[in-house]
Amino acid sequence: MSQAIGILGGTFDPVHHGHLRLAVEVRERLGLSEVRLLPTALTNLRDAASASPAQRLAMLEAALCPGLRADDREIRRGGRSYTIDTLIALRAEYPAASLCFVLGADAWNALPRWHRWTELLDYAHLVIATRPGAEPDEIPQLAAAQTEDPAALHASPAGRVLVLPIPRLPISSTDLRARLREGKGIDYFTPPAVVEFIAREGLYRG
Ligand code: ATP
Ligand code: MG
Repeated sequence: MSQAIGILGGTFDPVHHGHLRLAVEVRERLGLSEVRLLPTALTNLRDAASASPAQRLAMLEAALCPGLRADDREIRRGGRSYTIDTLIALRAEYPAASLCFVLGADAWNALPRWHRWTELLDYAHLVIATRPGAEPDEIPQLAAAQTEDPAALHASPAGRVLVLPIPRLPISSTDLRARLREGKGIDYFTPPAVVEFIAREGLYRG
């Protein structure tokens, strides 16, 4: 297999070390050439004070280390994005690459409610990041696709499901926004460039 690419979708409102460590761990453990962090076009609806798509993308770009990349295709497309459409577009761009779509155990458990979810494996592998020892729910329709061997993700471009135990750092964007709303600092939860961007633009003050 020529190339193996990881894809991590999210709101990234704002990006933090939980997202970034997850992306780095997945890249190292699976031997991927890169992991793309792919922000959704729609901004977080839970909080009144959110960043714009352009600001979320700018923070993400400021946070990246080598091996991680921002992918702005959903923001460019605008409106509501479905993962299936994003994977179809990536597959058209990389016909032979192994595509590994990463999702947390909570997202995996909700998968049967996603738009055209049974077709996702036609375009990518699914990698479920879960706490060590915590087994994600079984989805019977996908049981046959499961593998425990990361090499299987390099042997074909799509179609396998791998559970990867990765400790989750206790950080969330919701908590960061709450701290900023209360006038507290967020140093060491996210890279200095993101802290500075938020201060400069006056984001999340409520
Ligand atoms: P919010 O609190 O606004 O929902 P969030 O911190 O959950 O934000 P998202 O942008 O929703 O961040 O998450 C994008 C992806 O990153 C999801 O797959 C999510 O499971 C994963 N993720 C988020 N926080 C962590 C963390 N601390 N450790 C590992 N993975 C994380
Ligand atoms: Mg979330």
